[in-house]
Amino acid sequence: MPSTLRNTIRAAVAAEKPGTPAASGASPSEIFGRDVFSMKVMSERLPKSVYARLEQSVSGGEALQESDADVIAGAMRDWALERGATHYTHWFQPLTGATAEKHDAFLTPSPLGGGRIFSEFSGKMLIKGEPDASSFPSGGIRSTFEARGYTAWDPTSPAFLIAGGSGKTLYIPCVFVSYTGESLDSKTPLLRALDAVSRQALRILKLFGNTSAFKVDAMVGSEQEYFLIDRRYYNLRTDLQLSGRTVFGAKPCKGQELEDQYFGAISPRVIAFMTEVEEKLLALGIPARTRHNEVAPGQFEIAPMFEPANTAVDHNMLTMQIMRNTAAEHGFACLLHEKPFAGINGSGKHNNWSLCDSDGNNLLDPGSTPRDNAQFLVFLAAILRAVHKHAVALRLGVVGAGNDHRLGANEAPPAILSVFLGEQLTEIVESMAEGRSGTGKEGAPKRELMEIGVSSLPKLPKDSTDRNRTSPFAFTGNKFEFRAVGASQSIAPANIALSAAVACALNDIASDLEQEVQKGTKLNTAVQALLSRLFKEHSPIIFNGNNYAGEWQAEAERRGLPNLKDTVGAVLKYSDEEVKEVFLRHGILNERELHARQEVLLENYIKDVHVETKLTQVMGRSVILPAAVKFAAETAAYAAAAKQSGHPALSRYQALLDAGIEGLLKALDALDAKHLELDAMEGVEIRAEAARDKLLPLISECREYADALESIVDDAVWPLPKYNEMLWQH
Ligand code: ADP
Ligand code: MG
Repeated sequence: MPSTLRNTIRAAVAAEKPGTPAASGASPSEIFGRDVFSMKVMSERLPKSVYARLEQSVSGGEALQESDADVIAGAMRDWALERGATHYTHWFQPLTGATAEKHDAFLTPSPLGGGRIFSEFSGKMLIKGEPDASSFPSGGIRSTFEARGYTAWDPTSPAFLIAGGSGKTLYIPCVFVSYTGESLDSKTPLLRALDAVSRQALRILKLFGNTSAFKVDAMVGSEQEYFLIDRRYYNLRTDLQLSGRTVFGAKPCKGQELEDQYFGAISPRVIAFMTEVEEKLLALGIPARTRHNEVAPGQFEIAPMFEPANTAVDHNMLTMQIMRNTAAEHGFACLLHEKPFAGINGSGKHNNWSLCDSDGNNLLDPGSTPRDNAQFLVFLAAILRAVHKHAVALRLGVVGAGNDHRLGANEAPPAILSVFLGEQLTEIVESMAEGRSGTGKEGAPKRELMEIGVSSLPKLPKDSTDRNRTSPFAFTGNKFEFRAVGASQSIAPANIALSAAVACALNDIASDLEQEVQKGTKLNTAVQALLSRLFKEHSPIIFNGNNYAGEWQAEAERRGLPNLKDTVGAVLKYSDEEVKEVFLRHGILNERELHARQEVLLENYIKDVHVETKLTQVMGRSVILPAAVKFAAETAAYAAAAKQSGHPALSRYQALLDAGIEGLLKALDALDAKHLELDAMEGVEIRAEAARDKLLPLISECREYADALESIVDDAVWPLPKYNEMLWQH
């Protein structure tokens, strides 16, 4: 076999020994939260009065005084230094979708010299930082004359330590805002949205006579899918490195069709990686719990225990970072892109979501008394209303060039938002909508009308979800799963949109009920009427069938449900009045912030497509064509000789190669031309539409020719690692 880099690597990967766990093997209870400056640690280290004020501030009270912040900063610094920290950083989530950090040393040589070193970390530095913000996307909010941006400590998410280099760094979760106080990140609107949903949910609880709850938390558990491939292959795939997905690559001979991978035995090398990841996560207080093989070859999933949404968002960002880094240590590359491999199942995140009051009650649990059930049905109605009325806002929570390969393509879940409730709950909703005694399906026993305040819900099966894996928004017993989030995305935008939409629906409902009660209507009567009306109005959002089926698209259209197949189309809707209203009503985003987000999302989209375009051009011409042309030249010489000796068969093979090379060259030329056109265009909307409509189809066309060449050129001289080897060797 010729000694190409790919061949050397294939041999080395084949000889790879199974990994041994690099984790310490310590018990989870020993490790859990070891590197976190948690509320528990603070309660032990802070003066009682300071801790009490902090606790109040964290649970929605007043902002911290600077003097208290000083005390907390001191305690935080001492705790970090005792554990070997050398630096600290404000850690924030700008609109790039990634996290950002800038490390400062705790110990600084004194400017007065004399070898003196001093440590300075005041409350002021804890509470507020001033990074040079001019290089972060702002969508025009931060014009150059006000280039400053501020980071400010978010005390509701704990600080933590991460090892790196020769020491550790203290990470302080922060919001990131402009000089004028407008959000430049995803944490700020998330905190505002969570606050809004809490306030609106409390109004409902109060109507039902709850006097003890003072807060309602959105709880989130995000199941994270990812691929692992051998890093040596990854190093030869510039496309994976720079864009996260393969822009070239023929289908493997064996894909996921045998379904022998899902929940299959996990290979020792992968287990070693997973074990170490879990240990690192536990130390950071991230409750990693579940791991398994996913549907596609080389695809896996990790899921934590659910937590309050703000922490869950931070923890998911950290999880992705730790998985990437740990994969490298194990000789793997961890791929988080939504569609690293064409024709193979993509990766997403299931955002499991519920509402929990400060007494620990899950408000999406049907409960066991008629009163609980009535309250549950009100929250259910609110969520149906939120998804139905504000579907576009929710769709905006999951936009991104990568995710377009899943949503709107032939893969789960579709871009059309609908709610799966399961048969039993749907029957209850429908019978209430019609105000009838439900008869169920033919032959099913008659069910009495669900009478608020009197009858209780039948016991709902918790596993009803297992019969439907295709719904983008599924009720799974006591929580909803929003399944449209992309694997590489922050779950913040999805949770901002979800909380914003639910807050609006709860607001409508609370106002309606409060008015009725004030008029003297009995709560039960008011609820009965409200549910009947809302279940009728929003029943079109319920769909329990197969969401992949072609008929569903037509049916959804009949029902008037939006089908925003791609990012650009969805993001342009940010300017619709009814979409803006979802974010404006509770001050989650203001007009300027909304506009800025629209700009940034479109810019990000253009950048992503731009990188894929360059990759196609460069790899097409400098990697694929040379291999194909060299091989074709050899074949041509051979074919000519064969023809002369009266054996012309080879010329057919030669013609295939010629056609592939010719086709690829032409498609690349066309891509160049469109790329130049796009570069000359003005206006982010027009450029984003051109990227989608002109560049992406040509990228696909180049790929078709290149992949056809891949499957006829001698395998021994092909330069790029193929799907066959990347996906199946672990
Ligand atoms: P699945 O059937 O989807 O595997 P699991 O019960 O394993 O369901 O849960 C998947 C995710 O949902 C986990 O992250 C879990 O912590 C989370 N989850 C469970 N209950 C809730 C809840 N009440 N609210 C939010 N997330 C939850
Ligand atoms: Mg799930």
